[in-house]
Amino acid sequence: MCGIFGVFGVKNAANYIYFGLYALQHRGQESVGIAVFDGKKIREWKNLGLVSEVFNEEILKNLPGSIGIGHVRYSTTGLTILQNVQPFCVNFAKKTIAIAHNGNLVNAYQIRCKLEEEGHIFQTTMDSEVIVHLIAKNHKKGIISAICETMKKIRGAYSVLLLYENSLIAFRDPWGFRPLSLGILDGGYIISSETCAFDLIGVQYLRDIEPGEVLVIDKEGPQSFKVFEKDEIKLSHCIFEFIYFSRPDSYIFGKNVYIVRKNLGRNLYKECPLSADFVMPFPDSGNYAAIGYAQASGLPLEFGMIRNHYIGRTFIQPSEKIRDISVKIKLNPVKDILKNKEIIIIDDSLVRGTTSRDRLKSIKEAGAKNIHFLLSCPPIRFPCFFGIDFPTASELIAAKHNVEEIRRFLDIKTLYYLSIEGLLSAVEELKDRVCLACFTGEYPLEVDFTFRKDIAEI
Ligand code: 5GP
Ligand code: MG
Repeated sequence: MCGIFGVFGVKNAANYIYFGLYALQHRGQESVGIAVFDGKKIREWKNLGLVSEVFNEEILKNLPGSIGIGHVRYSTTGLTILQNVQPFCVNFAKKTIAIAHNGNLVNAYQIRCKLEEEGHIFQTTMDSEVIVHLIAKNHKKGIISAICETMKKIRGAYSVLLLYENSLIAFRDPWGFRPLSLGILDGGYIISSETCAFDLIGVQYLRDIEPGEVLVIDKEGPQSFKVFEKDEIKLSHCIFEFIYFSRPDSYIFGKNVYIVRKNLGRNLYKECPLSADFVMPFPDSGNYAAIGYAQASGLPLEFGMIRNHYIGRTFIQPSEKIRDISVKIKLNPVKDILKNKEIIIIDDSLVRGTTSRDRLKSIKEAGAKNIHFLLSCPPIRFPCFFGIDFPTASELIAAKHNVEEIRRFLDIKTLYYLSIEGLLSAVEELKDRVCLACFTGEYPLEVDFTFRKDIAEI
């Protein structure tokens, strides 16, 4: 997963991009980059690490210009190496183009192999690079036609920002998998993966970039192009953006994430009304569903586990080993709250099961009597090919085990997963417009089950 942020027509664009990426840091902690155009050339700065680690005032001062794009990365295609840090900048036909991409393409490898056979030379192992190659290949027809041609060839999830000559260009896949919003600031335009980044710098939200839309912003103002006919493709917004990924203060796909998560908790109570001494979340991802459950049940809400906020999700995180170590230092149980208590614990999701097992063990060690563990989404049984890090079915606990087996593995009294119906009712009018593939296995487009994140590595 990744976060992208673009600015058009605002002085010192790099400063705004810096704050925008700061607000999008939860979407990716491996690497960060900013590219800006000063009217003559594109300058960029990028590295592995967090926004606050990679940038400082001095660096931002050396990125002058009023148009620019930025990116934070959590890799789902291509390894975590400097070469794969975005924005990715290339020169072709005396022009420079920089790209920032959120989402995963499902046919990038096939396109890449074909282009390589034709003599194209790739510099990275990211799926995003094929987008640039396809645009360069079609550039003689003009940039807009080149993007439209490209969108007809690539399949999968893509919310993309391009910095090209004097323009900022945004385009989004016709399924609408990942969010992308447009706002205004001081007569300029801002585009962000999530609206929480707008709030930080005082941007007024205008609208979402539409699924299948290309939006070109230059000195003439914004110009919109539709690449696909309406109703040609079924909308498939990623429901996991609501469950886990996006920030609760964001509006995505037209809805506030906090409210949806509270609805999930309320629906959990409707389906699984338990009594206990109190309700508690595994913070932070379980907080909002826990509030929903507590309010619906009338039970008290406690924070029986305290999170250390200074544990960065570092760029080494994708390795299984590091994930396990970080669990133990991230959440600490409060013994006096938990001792001899019957507790309903709410979390957003169970993926591999390993983190939750460790956390539940430490709750038991703190003296909790009975534990009911409730999840605000159904069992995740199928991998995601569109940008969420659910790699292979073999790593997903619910792909191999039923609920009773998982309950025994977690060693708790009750394990309950929200139903698909409960999930859909929480997103209300979006219920026919979401991708549920990780729960149902019904993918909105053809996927390749042999896909691996390092597929393009040599
Ligand atoms: P598990 O017990 O399955 O190992 O981990 C479950 C926890 O992982 C939940 O608290 C959930 O919030 C978190 N989680 C869910 N999806 C993701 C993801 O894509 N990346 C990371 N880092 N954590 C996730
Ligand atoms: Mg969590």
